[in-house]
Amino acid sequence: MKKRLLCALLALSLFTLPGCKRDPEPVEVTAFAMDTVMQLTACSGDTGGTRAFLGELTARLTELDSQLSATREDSFVYAVNHAGGEWVEVPDSTVLALLHDALSLCEVTGGALDITTYPAVKAWGFTGEERRVPSPAELEALAEKIDYTAVALSDWAGEGRRGGAALPQGMEMDLGAVAKGFAGDLLAGEVREVGITSALLDLGQSTIVAVGSKPQGTPWRIGVVDPAQPGSCFAVVELEDCAMGTSGGYQRYFEQDGITYWHILDPDTAAPARSGLASVTVVSPSALICDGLSTALFVMGLEEGAQFWRDHPELEFEAVFVTEDGEIYCTAGLERRFTLAEGFEDREVTVLE
Ligand code: ADP
Ligand code: MG
Repeated sequence: MKKRLLCALLALSLFTLPGCKRDPEPVEVTAFAMDTVMQLTACSGDTGGTRAFLGELTARLTELDSQLSATREDSFVYAVNHAGGEWVEVPDSTVLALLHDALSLCEVTGGALDITTYPAVKAWGFTGEERRVPSPAELEALAEKIDYTAVALSDWAGEGRRGGAALPQGMEMDLGAVAKGFAGDLLAGEVREVGITSALLDLGQSTIVAVGSKPQGTPWRIGVVDPAQPGSCFAVVELEDCAMGTSGGYQRYFEQDGITYWHILDPDTAAPARSGLASVTVVSPSALICDGLSTALFVMGLEEGAQFWRDHPELEFEAVFVTEDGEIYCTAGLERRFTLAEGFEDREVTVLE
């Protein structure tokens, strides 16, 4: 976890603190939610007020986590997964909005993102301590039950009804691939609402949202982790009122008999997605798009992912693909905001048009 945070922290200390020192003091708070360490930084003249406000945001993160966790027995998601096909009332409009957004992303990605992959994630042991490789027959049975179109959602408008969700018996969902992005957008909205114009919200595991620019007006500069050496960053992306999210096989994995198995699964096979990619980074004004699409593009692979980018300008995203061979591809709209980091200048970058 420390390694994963290193690049974001480095980016903060190298590029942001000198600016913040001359300008308003940066206020930082750390939280643990959604299985990861999160760090919220805001630069504002009112240090005390900003600290209290960031504290409120971390409480909001904890609340969301308690609603969305697939493992906590008192969460909404757990309730849906164990309701035996019955409807479960959605706790509030925020969670309902997340479900709608998540399902839209499942649809637009043709199921490369599928929130009902969860039983397979569990079968591989990625939710607990013990990792294992399920048998081919088990995987086949698991893949048959992955189908986001079976998630039923209703916006009950009736008295006191807050909407409901239901899943067929035997299926389970998990919002792990999109929750941090959704939370990032939510928090960024609240930061803007209170009038803070310079903040960096690091939701951990490579989902980061920049509110405004650095206090002196230059963009935030965020490192992109090198999947081959996750302790270092191979590139820097400039962000201004923009988010970035990375999904990679290096983030959570185990090895057995010389084979590496990672936590991003192909919903068609219920097995780790082997598309030839080592990581995908998505840059977009929406952190939800960054989080959801980085997972989906990882499943699709380079060719299909690049075509998806060409076909979906309305999603307003750019992407950086790194293949397992270490080749780097960057979509044309990101070219001006993307630079190779020190020590990586000799790497070739192919621009996708
Ligand atoms: P992280 O949560 O590590 O930031 P991602 O955003 O890429 O990484 O989400 C991966 C998580 O989402 C996995 O840990 C798993 O719970 C779940 N997941 C794995 N494959 C898929 C998939 N194809 N679609 C939706 N969720 C997935
Ligand atoms: Mg994701």
